[in-house]
Amino acid sequence: MKNYIPKGGEFIIRSADAKDIFIPEEWNEEQIMMAETVIDFMVQEIHPILDDLDAMKDPNLMPDALEKAGQMGFSGISIPEEYGGLDLDFNTGLLFGEAVAPGFCFATTIGAQTSIGSLPIVFYGTEAQQQKYLPGIADASLKASYCLTEPSAGSDANSGKTKAVLSKDGKYYILNGQKMWITNGGFADIFIVFAKIEEDKNLSAFIVEKDFGGIELGAEEKKLGIKGSSTVQVFFNDCPVPVENLLSERGDGFKMALNILNTGRIKLAAGAIGGSKVSLDQGIKYAIKREQFGKSIGTFGAIQYKLAEMATRIFASESAIYRVGKAIDNKCDQLVESGTAKQEAKMLGVREYAIECAIMKVHGSEVLDYCVDETLQIFGGMGYSVETGVERGYRDARITRIYEGTNEINRMLSVGELFRKAFKTKELDIVSPVKKLPFYLFKQIFAGNGSGAFGKETKSVYNLKQVFLMLAAAAGKKFHLKLIDEQEIILNLSDILAESFVAQSVWLRIEKLKKAGNSDPKELEIKEKMAQVYLYQAVQRVNAVAKEAIDSFAEGGQRRMLLWSLKKLTRPYQVNPKELRRDIANYMMAQGGFPFTQFKVDVESVLATV
Ligand SMILES: Cc1cc2nc3c(=O)[nH]c(=O)nc-3n(C[C@H](O)[C@H](O)[C@H](O)COP(=O)(O)OP(=O)(O)OC[C@H]3O[C@@H](n4cnc5c(N)ncnc54)[C@H](O)[C@@H]3O)c2cc1C
Repeated sequence: MKNYIPKGGEFIIRSADAKDIFIPEEWNEEQIMMAETVIDFMVQEIHPILDDLDAMKDPNLMPDALEKAGQMGFSGISIPEEYGGLDLDFNTGLLFGEAVAPGFCFATTIGAQTSIGSLPIVFYGTEAQQQKYLPGIADASLKASYCLTEPSAGSDANSGKTKAVLSKDGKYYILNGQKMWITNGGFADIFIVFAKIEEDKNLSAFIVEKDFGGIELGAEEKKLGIKGSSTVQVFFNDCPVPVENLLSERGDGFKMALNILNTGRIKLAAGAIGGSKVSLDQGIKYAIKREQFGKSIGTFGAIQYKLAEMATRIFASESAIYRVGKAIDNKCDQLVESGTAKQEAKMLGVREYAIECAIMKVHGSEVLDYCVDETLQIFGGMGYSVETGVERGYRDARITRIYEGTNEINRMLSVGELFRKAFKTKELDIVSPVKKLPFYLFKQIFAGNGSGAFGKETKSVYNLKQVFLMLAAAAGKKFHLKLIDEQEIILNLSDILAESFVAQSVWLRIEKLKKAGNSDPKELEIKEKMAQVYLYQAVQRVNAVAKEAIDSFAEGGQRRMLLWSLKKLTRPYQVNPKELRRDIANYMMAQGGFPFTQFKVDVESVLATV
């Protein structure tokens, strides 16, 4: 029987079946081998030069490393085979994103090459454009960059001032403007540039070669982290772009930019999880060997809390990320079967799950920030020293909350997109479940906590979703279209939406693992404990942000009613968090490092050599 392919955002109104979702335990041999090859490359080729890369000692070092990766095929992961690429399915592409994460600043570089710098041509290029550029990008003899941001147009990307004017002979667009924060810009051969043609309201996109002339580069930005990645301003001064280098249709640029960013967001999330695993692995190893008060610090509850909490968040985030990745592949296959061209189907597949991509970008980047911060804390003073290399992870991670759309923008986008699908395009019926809510709430006066296998968990997750629906309806009734201006409430709603999705994903994973019955019993037991800790906290987090939302807009009887309902819907998911975390931490330390992976994350070579 075929898997059910949900609509993007449908998770908030529909229960999912564990059999329909992908879980990371299902990576096959080839996928694992690919991940290991990529990680080996990071260890063998990138780690020895990381310090030099970050010091920006030699401007050729990074492009040379990219070319080496190109020779391995890494640069062509998303490029069709006829143009020399590997054309990996979407979920394997996400796994690639996880596997390059130990490359630190190199991960950003190859990320820009394989994602934002090349996907506009893969998804929207004409055959001639693809033939001309994709083989070079696939082997990294051509280095690619993506120029959307401008000094006065960051989050508000459509407000850019860069202009394209048709030349008198009609053969060229003459580009003028300034782009900022351009990853790979210092050595790029190709710039995907977003600009407005003449007085257009919307952006168009162009493939611009450095050799066209009229391009000037600013100095390399001095940054907090990912120092080895090139980030420059790019100035276009009467840069002549042949008309055939317009991508897609005139005015399509903003739509295109958003679609490319959807892809970038979920890829960033997978990369963040790769970085988190490396960070946790470092933390576990240090906690085992560092002794204070005559004991390994890993025996202290305070340290065990951190280790277990990191593992739990990683486990939950990856459950959701690869669930989305597979859903995108399934959607893509469905579209291809119904006659859509493959690359267009891929793009539409990602577009379908824009809500989930935004949610996971925020979640993954915040898990990463938590992990690098806590690992540094576990290392104490040695974490603060460059000697251990842990501070590099701390600095490099910070960017993930800023680029591919800041986390504030992505939070608002996830809720905005859900409302668009519910009220504008009517793709999601959230009105019917909202209508059923009063009856469901009334039933909760007498209802228990759920029974049977996963009964308690299923009910808790279901109730988190009801909190979202209840508050979205109540706030929507009060503010109507102006709700979008009540950003604090939208951010609260977004956090509830995210917790619902991630908590659901982690429990579907446990359910599927248990049904499959082929896990190591001890490992499965620990995974279930992580799922319990996650849900325990998710319920509390939802309760806290929902209360804040209610206090922000409701008064009198309505406030009392909403608070009463919230109490019923967020009844504590009762476990003993201390004991669960101790078990999780002790298990990991007994394994000597991060154990929940089919490929190694043990990359001790990242430690700086001082
Ligand atoms: C190292 C690095 C590499 C980058 N690489 C690229 C690249 O390759 N190509 C490219 O085009 N861009 C790139 N960027 C740009 C990046 O995408 C932007 O920095 C990001 O989109 C945020 O824009 P901004 O910096 O102008 O911040 P602003 O938009 O000025 O935002 C500042 C703050 O205000 C908040 N904010 C803004 N608007 C709103 C709103 N409507 N509601 C609530 N809060 C809001 C933001 O969340 C943020 O906290 C890169 C940036 C960095 C730092």
